[in-house]
Amino acid sequence: MSDESYRPGEKVPESGIYQCDCGQSHEYSTDVKGHPFPPLPQGCSGIGWTLKTATHQ
Ligand SMILES: [Zn+2]
Repeated sequence: MSDESYRPGEKVPESGIYQCDCGQSHEYSTDVKGHPFPPLPQGCSGIGWTLKTATHQ
């Protein structure tokens, strides 16, 4: 699993649960491959999303 982070609006490369990269582990987002990433949560100091748990379909 990589530590790569993805900006909001980028295409989701792999379906799974993504976490904001602010380091506070305060927000998770379940995203589907091919869809754009959602905006980061309000007040989040991170710059993108990192893959936490991949879901295999
Ligand atoms: Zn955050």
